[in-house]
Amino acid sequence: MQLPEKLTALKPYDPITGQFDIRLDANESYFDLPAVLKERIAAKLEQLDFNRYPDPLATDAINAFAAYYQIPAECVTAGNGSDELISILTNCFLQAGSKLVTVSHDFSMYRFYAALAEMESVVVPKTEQLQIDVDALIAAAQDAAAVIFSNPCNPTSLGLPRAEIIRLIERIPGLVIVDEAYMDFWNESVLDLVSQYENLIVLRTCSKAIGLAAVRMGFAVANPTLTGYLRAAKSPYNCDAVSQTIAAEVLQEQSLLQSCRNEMIVQTQKLYTMMNELARKYPDYLDTVYPTRTNFVFVKTAYAKEIHGALAAKGIAVRCFPDGLRICCGSRREQTLLRYAFEEIFQPE
Ligand SMILES: *Cc1c(COP(=O)(O)O)cnc(C)c1O
Repeated sequence: MQLPEKLTALKPYDPITGQFDIRLDANESYFDLPAVLKERIAAKLEQLDFNRYPDPLATDAINAFAAYYQIPAECVTAGNGSDELISILTNCFLQAGSKLVTVSHDFSMYRFYAALAEMESVVVPKTEQLQIDVDALIAAAQDAAAVIFSNPCNPTSLGLPRAEIIRLIERIPGLVIVDEAYMDFWNESVLDLVSQYENLIVLRTCSKAIGLAAVRMGFAVANPTLTGYLRAAKSPYNCDAVSQTIAAEVLQEQSLLQSCRNEMIVQTQKLYTMMNELARKYPDYLDTVYPTRTNFVFVKTAYAKEIHGALAAKGIAVRCFPDGLRICCGSRREQTLLRYAFEEIFQPE
């Protein structure tokens, strides 16, 4: 038996293990759902026919999503997390051997799925300031089947203004897939443009600002033609009835969602200020702190691995990259404890 190398070379996803009091590593919301809302969801779940397959079109969840973002439901496809949608797009909208353009730094899953789909993946480096080089991206994408990137970006936290995204959509002949996983924290979305462009697909998720990482719901938004193909290509029952029910309930909670979002933006700005103060105080250890359009902060440091390990020993999880740390916003208490931890690490007794 011969299994393909693209499979056997894979390393299993390494979820963080060990006991962490403070989790600032996965860009989740630090708000759990209020108890009254959990009760309302529990009542809805009681009414489910657990013996029946779920709605393949996730109608209630899609309608709630479309209403929340004020877009037509006919442009929306639901996925088992936006991760699944990325997998469907690479496997079904693109052909083996065709070219997918990504940028670096960016979300690592794009290249993971591109490799499994046997695509040629071309990486366009970002500028010195970690911004997308729009002209280089346009040039690299002229013979590409698709371009995919996150905006605002995970892990840099930087955003590309809407006018620049429009320039990309108009100058790139292939598909332009804009992953707006963090766009709830900024306001330069191109969601409203999907009907105007034949080559635009926007991805959204319930895992970040919406606070439903446990539930696995993501959405792809595109014109009705692309949406028709996407709905045809996905597996019929990709979103289970429990997730659909929960997402439909929570997406109706407009004022709750907006106040959680606003609170996270405030905490992220405090985290940014705090990291800047620490970087000024300990310039040997911390380098640039990047301005953030997301719910996390990216700090450049040559000691990412060491600091990551020292924080972990204190029960604090952050995300480590070769050249920096990605730290998600937390509650006031969590961020205060993070500050104490940094002070102890950099100034040991
Ligand atoms: C977290 C994240 C996602 C979300 O994936 P889900 O599968 O919906 O949880 C997608 N794209 C980016 C860039 C992310 O950071």
